Amino acid sequence: MGSIPISPILCLLGLLRLLCFVNGANTSDLSLTPIPRHLYHSCDSLLKDVKALVSRHPEKLTVDRIRAEDKGYAADIVVVTYNSGKIPKNDNFEFRILLTFGQHGRELITSEVALRLISMLTGERTMPGADLNLLNSFLDNLVIKVVPMENLNGCKLVEAGEYCERRNGRGVDLNRNWSVDWGKKEKDYDPYEENPGTGPFSEPETQIMRKLSQSFDPHVWVNVHSGMEALFMPYDHKNVTPDGLISHLMRSLLDDLNYHHCQNRCLVGSGGGSVGYLAHGTSTDYMHDIVKVPMAFTFEIYGDSSASSKDCFKMFNPVDEATFNRVIENWCAAFLMLFQTGPGWLDIARQATFNDLSKWVSIDANAVDRIEGSSKGGKLEGLDLGMQELRTYFRLFMLSSVLIMFMFCSRISKSKCRPSMSSIPI
Ligand SMILES: [Zn+2]
Repeated sequence: MGSIPISPILCLLGLLRLLCFVNGANTSDLSLTPIPRHLYHSCDSLLKDVKALVSRHPEKLTVDRIRAEDKGYAADIVVVTYNSGKIPKNDNFEFRILLTFGQHGRELITSEVALRLISMLTGERTMPGADLNLLNSFLDNLVIKVVPMENLNGCKLVEAGEYCERRNGRGVDLNRNWSVDWGKKEKDYDPYEENPGTGPFSEPETQIMRKLSQSFDPHVWVNVHSGMEALFMPYDHKNVTPDGLISHLMRSLLDDLNYHHCQNRCLVGSGGGSVGYLAHGTSTDYMHDIVKVPMAFTFEIYGDSSASSKDCFKMFNPVDEATFNRVIENWCAAFLMLFQTGPGWLDIARQATFNDLSKWVSIDANAVDRIEGSSKGGKLEGLDLGMQELRTYFRLFMLSSVLIMFMFCSRISKSKCRPSMSSIPI
């Protein structure tokens, strides 16, 4: 017969469409939101703008590009340092803060926040109503390292149309590739989303970040993501928070940020206990357990729970100008608040961890190449014999701090929980 075999053609089209979704290459689906290019930089242009900022403000910023390679797969990570080499005023300790953005490819908004934050640190951009003298005074004793785009290869996949891609350029989730509880798989494990790699630190990006964190030895770590609104502290791989005073201080700081910058919408607590699933081999758990960062956090800065689970760009990133600007300004303000109040919280924590002095003695902020295995015992040199008296004083101070802290904690209202999203933010 001369009739056209329509059914096989429809089947073929259907199969092609299905394959399109499976591979995440959804650009052919007109119902999916494309990247609004009038709002978002390309991956390369964002890093170019970061470097231009550094070149215009060499007195405040320096930049390093760190490269690593494994079996023919290479990764480059740009690291911006604010206040590099500046000597802290008075006898104050130098507080080191390490922020990373764009660990997951599809979370482009996070890198936009990083770029704006760096421009605010230079003074080129300001917050409405900000007191610049006050800002500069509390920035004096800080050294801040910013990784604006941890997963450049993943970002490039997203801008090529793989809007749901969160992994690196060879399919590994960079927030599952760290050594704390690495490789454990939950019942709801999604191999597409959470591939942990062939072993801990198998990925060049993770190797670079480990090296950076161990050489810089930060007091504060923030891993910035999107997909929901949340302020997480350890642990991600179990549904509890660490014990002790520092854990309470971390929680208090997050409650403060939630109140001022998330209007109490953010989930606050341990990642594993709050997000609705356990995550194994994450950066923040490594920072807490291994690098011993006193305050290690994961911020989730935006999520659209009304978006279709296939419409990844919209789910993880604001797509209208007003929301885009609001998210950026709000979270830049949150980071400035963290920079301002963090040292105070850390000072209390310092009293609590006085026996571990190594964390609190200033180091060369540019010692990116000083790697794990170096003895921290040498940092104890120079402490005088009056330390015993100081310890007594600090114990008294610590006790009073604990009392103040609990009063403060009880004052703050608990955050209202939002339902977890079906996709995986952290
Ligand atoms: Zn993420």
